[in-house]
Amino acid sequence: TVKTRFAPSPTGFLHVGGARTALYSWLFAKHMGGEFVLRIEDTDIERSTQEAIDAIMEGMEWLELSWDEGPYYQTKRFDRYNEVVDQLLAEDKAYKCYCPKELLDEIREQQMADGVKPRYDANHPKIIAANAAATADSPFCIRFRNPKEGTVIFDDKIRGHIEISNSELDDLIIRRTDGSPTYNFCVVIDDWDMGITQVVRGEDHINNTPRQINIYKALGAPVPEFAHCAMILGDDGAKLSKRHGAVGVMQYRDDGFLPHALLNYLVRLGWSHGDQEIFSLQEMIDCFTLESVSKSASAFNTDKLLWLNNHYIKTAAPEYVAKYLQWHLDQKQISIENGPAITEVITLVGERCHTLIELAEQSRYFYQDFSEFEAGAAKKHLRPVAKDALALALVKVEALEEWTTENLHAVIAQVCEELELGMGKVGMPLRVAVTGQGQSPSVDAVMQLIGKERVVTRIKMALD
Ligand code: GLU
Repeated sequence: TVKTRFAPSPTGFLHVGGARTALYSWLFAKHMGGEFVLRIEDTDIERSTQEAIDAIMEGMEWLELSWDEGPYYQTKRFDRYNEVVDQLLAEDKAYKCYCPKELLDEIREQQMADGVKPRYDANHPKIIAANAAATADSPFCIRFRNPKEGTVIFDDKIRGHIEISNSELDDLIIRRTDGSPTYNFCVVIDDWDMGITQVVRGEDHINNTPRQINIYKALGAPVPEFAHCAMILGDDGAKLSKRHGAVGVMQYRDDGFLPHALLNYLVRLGWSHGDQEIFSLQEMIDCFTLESVSKSASAFNTDKLLWLNNHYIKTAAPEYVAKYLQWHLDQKQISIENGPAITEVITLVGERCHTLIELAEQSRYFYQDFSEFEAGAAKKHLRPVAKDALALALVKVEALEEWTTENLHAVIAQVCEELELGMGKVGMPLRVAVTGQGQSPSVDAVMQLIGKERVVTRIKMALD
């Protein structure tokens, strides 16, 4: 059965590029009815932090990319890596290298001066001499004996047929002098032990793949399939980075995006299914294939993400939007206890909002009273001529027995008729009076939701 994984190095938060890789890996597993593993690649002890582990998991959880297995931690698997190193040593598929770093640096410099691609050459006379001179207590690292002949061939599910001659690859260090195993080695042992069938990862790892395939072969382990995803660029064509704006997934939460909008955005960033733009989670799972992932880099487009976010704010179940809106309401200290059901506010106001921050802000007047009207709107619409309209509306509103949108609509129409005013001359002053601002959804529906008591108080305040 299919098993994929996401294997982040915990050196920072979950980046949108990492999130997209995780999504593709997850979608492929779900599409195939398989499983998805989370593995924390924390062998770089200097750079790995618990904070980063927590941040990555927080991002995955927020996106609801749930894992069926794990999280596994590489630092808990050192015994296993050592066991395999010993096996490779016993089979002469790996060897101890006593070459001091200074000598390797010296050889590398010479190679560069000679215009040769710098590489470790086990047959270099100085390396042979250094190894021969070593004593039992000389420090050493362990190198994998890469085949000297032949070619490594694999069919990348995204990038197609790839061939690399073994003459291009040198003998990789699999265990450092300090005893710690290296990335290229651990990743093979892990993917093998965990039964990973498809490795979906960033294109920055494509040069590691032939080296890893040689290790699988030396171990007699089945070689998984590989799929390398292209980079994500900023709008200026450079690799996406902080200076383009938010790059951490949780920053998108803070900026008011719905997880589903971000997922829909990320799935389309480098993958397509005809010209369909909107995908439910089930549609993503049903339609996703690695073959339809683009080979070329994709540029991040914030306007499109905002468009999708607006789409989900207005079309998703209001309960879903409410769940994520709550965090933003809390940030703004807007308590929804004293007022209409938040789902009704979302249904009325959501259409106009591109982010949950805007939606939270536009929810405020349903729950909080204000002591001032927005200056520009008041200047324009609360002029003395508007006062007659407001005064008449107040009388009619107070007399209303049934507080419905239809009845409020009728009140406005009657005021217009009796005072011979256009809709705008009545609706706008009322809008400013009851919301404190110049823009809102249809004023009758807004008044209905705000409720009679507040509407009456606010019109009176506008008449003062
Ligand atoms: N830990 C690696 C990274 O975060 C990914 C390794 C892999 O997916 O094979 O870049």
